[in-house]
Amino acid sequence: MDWESGANGLGVATWLARIGSARASATHPSTEPLFQTSVYDFESLEQLDLVQDGEQVGFTYARMGHPNATTLEEAVARLEGAEAGCACSSGMGALSAALLAVLESGTHLIAARGIYGGTSALLVCELARLGIGISFVDISDLKALAEAITPRTRLVLVETLSNPLMQLPDLTAVVQLAHQHGLQVLADNTLATPWLMPLQVSGADMAIHSVTKFLGGHHDLMAGVVVGSSELIARVRRVAVNLGQYAAPFDCWLACRGLKTFALRMQRHCQNAQCVAEFLQAHPAVKRVYYPGLPNHPQYELASKLLRQGGGPMVSFDIDGGESAVEIFVRHLSAIPLSPSFGGVNTTFSYPLKTSHRSLSPQERDLCGIGPGLVRLSVGIEDWQDICADLGKALTPVGAR
Ligand SMILES: *Cc1c(COP(=O)(O)O)cnc(C)c1O
Repeated sequence: MDWESGANGLGVATWLARIGSARASATHPSTEPLFQTSVYDFESLEQLDLVQDGEQVGFTYARMGHPNATTLEEAVARLEGAEAGCACSSGMGALSAALLAVLESGTHLIAARGIYGGTSALLVCELARLGIGISFVDISDLKALAEAITPRTRLVLVETLSNPLMQLPDLTAVVQLAHQHGLQVLADNTLATPWLMPLQVSGADMAIHSVTKFLGGHHDLMAGVVVGSSELIARVRRVAVNLGQYAAPFDCWLACRGLKTFALRMQRHCQNAQCVAEFLQAHPAVKRVYYPGLPNHPQYELASKLLRQGGGPMVSFDIDGGESAVEIFVRHLSAIPLSPSFGGVNTTFSYPLKTSHRSLSPQERDLCGIGPGLVRLSVGIEDWQDICADLGKALTPVGAR
């Protein structure tokens, strides 16, 4: 066979262009393959009609849906106890699609103060520009929340577990108040995850995730997902498709692979975080630990009631001595990297003053309780003794200053 021809004597450009298309599979793959294709072929005009009208299951163009996204959507919806899900290109993509599905010019939303920096940038820099009003309130203050409601308010945006101070709103009460006023509640469930607080339990109308964090779990993908009722998710999907925010196949494929071990990972993350929190609490160089699984956490009772599986996977703590003490701590950490994200299998730390809360003024940071000694740990699935040993080695020189 001459190198220019395939089996049918086709030109090289022809057979190259047709590599891998329409190969009938005689065997069933044991895990879902990656559908790394942007478009799907049809056997007939009739089939095209059937698929586009939703009468036959199928896909047309990957920006509007593909098998890897469907698998991710169904898995997260099931974890959350929700009817449906929509996979997006990132957590921010999911959040903006969810917000734009229910808000329009002239409406108003209430967001929890101290919410994720990317979220407040989306609200203040983009949604405000579109004529959407925004109020930030202390979400633990139900009276303040009630007072912020106006006739134009449509939505309350909360985080089920806040970053970095691990505060929880009394979600049952927030949802009840919002629903009394005909408002919807959108919960950012990225930190708590459905392992701790599924939508079915929180009672919110929709939840979003940065799948980039614990759901994916390996620091190797970017994706987001919105879950809620089929009716709401149909609206979210329309926005995500029209704005080009739908998730790509490879990220969904990685996320589904990560999700297979989600229960195991979360169990271990939470057990380890409890051990690390107790270790830090007992350390003389640590001024304060923020962990809902410790009895001194201001919302310990609420956490025991609301969170299903302990205090969660993340621990924050204040090092005595502020920024200069943190510098010594960072210099002496050997195995825990400074990594301004969270949710991977290895323990990482972040310094909110210089990362997530960098853009806030000192007054705003004070208002949110973010001090210069605050360090946030994403506790991994290592042997907890090794995590504590590394932290201990870095804290000893801080105490000896
Ligand atoms: C990371 C994060 C987001 C944004 O997710 P991306 O995947 O980075 O777009 C939203 N909310 C919270 C709480 C996050 O931690």
